[in-house]
Amino acid sequence: MTSHSDEGISEWVASLEKRLGDFLRGDLFLITKTPEREWWAQVIENVSVTAPLITNLVLRAERSPEGCLEASVARSKRISVGGRQVYAYQLIYWAGNAIIPNSEDVVRHKCHNRRCINPQHLTHGTQMENINDTRDR
Ligand SMILES: [Zn+2]
Repeated sequence: MTSHSDEGISEWVASLEKRLGDFLRGDLFLITKTPEREWWAQVIENVSVTAPLITNLVLRAERSPEGCLEASVARSKRISVGGRQVYAYQLIYWAGNAIIPNSEDVVRHKCHNRRCINPQHLTHGTQMENINDTRDR
């Protein structure tokens, strides 16, 4: 379904499997490899598990009047993936965009709604920028 307020979410979900499938461990990844980055790479490469998990999270979320997609209360907490617990928005942003975070990288909510998992409302930055977000709110 595509509506005026969809903001490209349908397209984002539709291209999810291809994005994960296209992920390659480049030279930079090998040079900067850490256990954390290795774990994210494995989640991204596990397309048959990760893609449906992310798709379900996004499609089952409730849309707020502001266009936020809010996971149900239980799901907005940490979810289990690859033997770890991560926040739904972390999984959606990093794995869903096939991006491997560095240790100082954090997911930021452009909408300032920490329950929001709308991929279009998420971006990333440093911990310091995240603290500024909270203070400016
Ligand atoms: Zn939002």
